[in-house]
Amino acid sequence: MVRPERLLMARQRPLVERLCRLVAALGDVQPGEVVEVRSDCGIIRPERLLIDRQCAPVERFRRREAALAKVWGTEAAWRCVDECLQIRGGRGYETASSRRQRGESAEPVERMMRDSRINTIFEGSSEIMRLFIAREALDPHLKKAAGALNSRLPMGERLKTAARAGLFYAGWYPRQWLPIGPGGLTGMDSKLARHVAWAARNSRRLARRLFHSMARYGPKLEREQILLGRYVDIGTDLFAMAATCSRAQSLLEQGTPREQVLPLADFFCRETRLRIRGRFRGVRQNNDRRGYRLARQVLADDLLWLESGIVGHWD
Ligand SMILES: Cc1cc2nc3c(=O)[nH]c(=O)nc-3n(C[C@H](O)[C@H](O)[C@H](O)COP(=O)(O)OP(=O)(O)OC[C@H]3O[C@@H](n4cnc5c(N)ncnc54)[C@H](O)[C@@H]3O)c2cc1C
Repeated sequence: MVRPERLLMARQRPLVERLCRLVAALGDVQPGEVVEVRSDCGIIRPERLLIDRQCAPVERFRRREAALAKVWGTEAAWRCVDECLQIRGGRGYETASSRRQRGESAEPVERMMRDSRINTIFEGSSEIMRLFIAREALDPHLKKAAGALNSRLPMGERLKTAARAGLFYAGWYPRQWLPIGPGGLTGMDSKLARHVAWAARNSRRLARRLFHSMARYGPKLEREQILLGRYVDIGTDLFAMAATCSRAQSLLEQGTPREQVLPLADFFCRETRLRIRGRFRGVRQNNDRRGYRLARQVLADDLLWLESGIVGHWD
């Protein structure tokens, strides 16, 4: 029998490892230093691929990318175990000791599920990590521009801030439209290089969209949690793509046969591209406002009929 968890983990495990190594390598970078990460391969220049690099000093990379890796890794592990349990059916749900008592093999899938689920809550729940990552991405921009919109500041100060921000964005914004390559790709497998170039382009697209949202909402953008969540998920997936290509290239350079590496990395990147495209679409076409209004109605007890017979008190 094919063990389902082997198939599923083959898809996720190399990447989770790679994300951890990449983040660890970023941890060694000194503030202000511009480097290529050469932990176990090289190739990816983090300052090229991450969200609005011009605004973010290296110190910020460490915190943000560690958070990206935490969210991505724990959620991927959870999906992996969840699918694994589903494939195993009722036997997956059963505890290992119960299966042992019945004389069956005792894979602890049910325990893996409980253990894996808590990782999206402990050490920073996924929701809080998303808020943290969004805050980290927005903070440098808000520091530059928010003063201009703050009506409590004297007009002179607001104008000065607006002029400084205008000067900065006059250089920053056009750069997000330029077809600048990710750099550091010489010698990279052409299939992987195409995925990295796509990630770099979409990283700039993400920076532009974030900027447009800032212009639209101003400091209130911080309260647009669902919108920010989409941006964070796009950034996390771009980071995961970059890490995957980096890891795949490293394996190729170490002599692992192409057919054992490229189909996996290519499939992952293609799936990730589809997800990213969907999330970009979701920024413009969504039901966020309707969902918000509905949630307010539920909280105001306007839809109590819906809860009757379902939601009660657990004493
Ligand atoms: C028995 C036990 C052992 C623990 N041991 C450890 C440990 O060893 N190490 C460790 O790090 N922690 C430990 N914790 C704490 C753990 O880190 C917290 O449970 C975790 O940080 C979530 O906080 P909370 O349980 O207070 O949830 P709450 O803060 O009450 O949040 C509940 C839910 O709401 C979401 N939420 C909260 N605020 C927002 C928001 N503004 N926007 C959107 N969603 C939001 C959260 O993500 C979560 O899903 C332990 C907890 C327990 C019960």
